[in-house]
Amino acid sequence: MLNAMAEFEKTGEFGLIDRIRYQFKTPEGYLGIGDDCAVIPESDGYETLVSTDMLVEDSHFILDRITPYQLGWKSAAVNFSDIAAMGGEPVGSFLSLALPESLASSREWIDEFFRGYKDISERYGFALLGGDTTSSKDKLCINVTVLGRSRRGESKRRSTAVAGDLICVTGTLGDSGAGLDITLSGRDLNLLSDDEIYLLERHCMPTPRIEEGIALARQEKVHAMMDISDGIASDLLHILEESVGLSGASIYLDKLPISQQLKQYCYLNNKNVKALSTGAGEDYELLFTIDQHAEQDLDVPHTVIGRIIGPDDSFDTSCDVTNVNGIVYLENGKITDEKFIGFSHF
Ligand code: ADP
Ligand code: MG
Repeated sequence: MLNAMAEFEKTGEFGLIDRIRYQFKTPEGYLGIGDDCAVIPESDGYETLVSTDMLVEDSHFILDRITPYQLGWKSAAVNFSDIAAMGGEPVGSFLSLALPESLASSREWIDEFFRGYKDISERYGFALLGGDTTSSKDKLCINVTVLGRSRRGESKRRSTAVAGDLICVTGTLGDSGAGLDITLSGRDLNLLSDDEIYLLERHCMPTPRIEEGIALARQEKVHAMMDISDGIASDLLHILEESVGLSGASIYLDKLPISQQLKQYCYLNNKNVKALSTGAGEDYELLFTIDQHAEQDLDVPHTVIGRIIGPDDSFDTSCDVTNVNGIVYLENGKITDEKFIGFSHF
């Protein structure tokens, strides 16, 4: 854990999770609260990975701004992403629905939701193994529990970053945030440009990086890993907090991978591309750290976006960043005083 917790004294969602976490003891040999999945050791040389995520109407989605097919896909995708975050192989899922009467009685809506859920489940090899179906007075609530597995000791954790590591991400950042922006704009979704359709689809139908996660988990030079659900400004702090003996991290703002579609959208709509790519949630790309000398050997497409800093380090080659106790943002090698905030419920 970082010494200078005061730097990012936790409140809101993550403060609440910490209060829960410290009241419950995790059984010996298990990994409990604090990572993308819990890890349960098995006797056959494997370990079982488990995670659960809930999607609540008007908090996570607006019913008339997402199709039932997309919502079925997304409900599974955000959960599969937590298996990807550990580098796990797919096993199965449980799906629980609290349905308002209007949806429960719409056969078309239900069929489309399950078509989306089934397509992504078949695409990645997760079997639907059970769940629960109940009524809700008003809002739709969807809960998915997902199971995966890894060879014993191979799953990647948030807690294993090392000072000097390079920080990497798969794919591009901020697309989903722009998609959310479009969702909330109230605009007619039938009148969007091709770029906007792309961004909206990144938001409504994210890609869990299962294959990339499995490939990264097999490589020892990959140290820590998680998925990006709340933006790197928030998610990277989890790696810093869970790992031992780190001071912080530098992020190279000019190196962040940004899609052409997002650049164009921000240019035309006067949006802050840096805020979207660091602080907007739901990209579901992988955020991982690798040995500082090992980048050339990495065979998974990625972008290096920064560096992990230890308490005594002044080895950031692009800038002298020491004892930062948090995240420092650099632009063209110079420290900026910009601050970015990731997503948190509450
Ligand atoms: P993710 O974004 O990867 O889904 P979260 O930020 O939702 O992870 O959760 C972080 C950790 O806290 C996970 O280990 C999760 O299982 C745990 N957690 C979240 N809410 C609760 C809760 N109400 N009770 C117990 N554990 C929780
Ligand atoms: Mg996660």
